[in-house]
Order: sequence, then structure tokens, then C-alpha cells
Amino acid sequence: MRPLGIIFLSVGALVAFAESPSLPSETVAEQKIQLAQQDVERISGLVTSGALPRIRLEQAQEDLEDAKDDAILARTLYGELPVKDVTEQMADEMVAAAQRRADHQQVKVAQMQKLVDDGVTAQSSLTPLLDEMNLRKMNVDLARSRAKLIGELASIARYQQSMQQIQAATTMPFADFMTKGMEHYEGRGVFLESRDLKPLEQAFEKKFDRALPISADGETEFHRSMGFDHRGRVDVAINPQNQEGIWLTRYLRARGIPYYAFTHAMAGKASAAHIHIGPGSTRLHIAD
Ligand SMILES: [Zn+2]
Repeated sequence: MRPLGIIFLSVGALVAFAESPSLPSETVAEQKIQLAQQDVERISGLVTSGALPRIRLEQAQEDLEDAKDDAILARTLYGELPVKDVTEQMADEMVAAAQRRADHQQVKVAQMQKLVDDGVTAQSSLTPLLDEMNLRKMNVDLARSRAKLIGELASIARYQQSMQQIQAATTMPFADFMTKGMEHYEGRGVFLESRDLKPLEQAFEKKFDRALPISADGETEFHRSMGFDHRGRVDVAINPQNQEGIWLTRYLRARGIPYYAFTHAMAGKASAAHIHIGPGSTRLHIAD
């Protein structure tokens, strides 16, 4: 990987230096697009007035496309964008742009060759075009090797992600526990009622066509009398084992929201089957 990196760097430096020593290649490419755009507009006017043949406008339009392709390469090939930040789609675009630029130059060389053959132009006019041609062909090769590297990095990233997902799934039981009749999921430990409750109510209503059966929202007389600090906690009168309960606990888990699910009444903890959303009430923790 290192030798490749050095090649990219030196090509980038070479191109940037050749065009302008002080401007990054992306800025230069944008300026070239602007100039090519202005050419198209100017030549378009001259073609309309009959001062220039139609083919000059087509050439100007091709030059504009060429400048746009150069901007793609400035971002993805000559630029300083780290390989890891180039997506596979960008890599495909990079190879396609490099190839189009080589093809475009091939046409220019052929046109000039014809003028040389016809004796209209000197042989030496071909030299700069051929030099540019070689540079563009080299860029196609570089773009292809870079795209290959990007593809390999993307596969590694996908593999690592799938490993992380497996790991996350298998470590989840550490964050929660289950006793007979009660399941506790800790998640990220935060339930912000003002933020989290409304979306939950909407999702539940959409799913089951009835309002979320909240039996206690925050502090209630019942909780106070039992000695629970129930502020910022919500009780939902749903059995965690039925369809709605299973949906609700999955919803909370997907968002890392802590809950206690009671499948039946438990002395000192729950008066009936329900799901308590939020961290444990003070007395719940003492009871634990
Ligand atoms: Zn509760």
C-alpha cells in the first residue's frame, strides 16, 4: 500500500505543480470548468451568427465535459482525499473519467495526425498532444489500481462491520438480566420523556391502531405511596409476553432505552404485568 501511496502523491504533486504551484488541483479544475463554460457560451454566439462552423461548438462542449472529468480526477485521484474516504461509487466514476479523458485525447491526436498527413501542420505539433496522451493513459492505470485498492478496503470495512454487529449482538446480555417474571434491559440507560415518548406513542398507534396504554406517566400518587421516585419514568399496561409487549421491548432495545418488563405482579415492585420505561425507580434499585 505504501509504494502506491507514494506514486499517487508524486503524480498529484506533479500535476498540481505543472498547472499552478500555489493552487490545489481541485481549485484549478474548477477554474478550468469555468473557462470551458465561458468558451462554450462565446463560441455558441459566434456559431449562431455564422462566424464559426457548428463543429467548433461541439468541440467546445467536449472540452467542457473533459474539464468536468478532470475535476472528478482532481477530487479522487490527484487530490489529497485519503483512500479510505473514497467510496466504491466514486472509484468507478474516477476510472470512467480517466478513461473518457484518454479517449478524448486519442481523438485529438487522430485529428492532428490527419492535419500532419495532409501537410497542413508540422510533425512537431503532435508532440504536446502525445505527451498529454501518455499522461492520461498513465492516469487510467493509476485510477484502476487505486479503484482496486478502494474495493479491497471497502470489503475489509464491510467485514469489520459485520464482525462488530455480531459482537454487539452477543455482548448485549451483559447489559440486562432476567429474573423470574421480570426482565431488565439497561441499554444506554437514558429515557428522555420529552424527546422519546411522543415518537413511541405515534409508532405504537400506527402499529396497533390504538393509543399506547400508559398507566403511569411520571410521578403518581400510587408510586409515592409505595415510596417510588417515578419522575421521568412511564409505565405501560402491556404484558411483555403478548404481541404488543414484544413489539414495545424490541422498539426500546433498538433505541437503547432502558426498561423493566414485568410479566405478572411482583411484591414490592409491580402491581400487575406492565412495562416500566426508563431507569429503575429509586426503590426498585434498593429492592434489586
Ligand atoms: Zn414504573
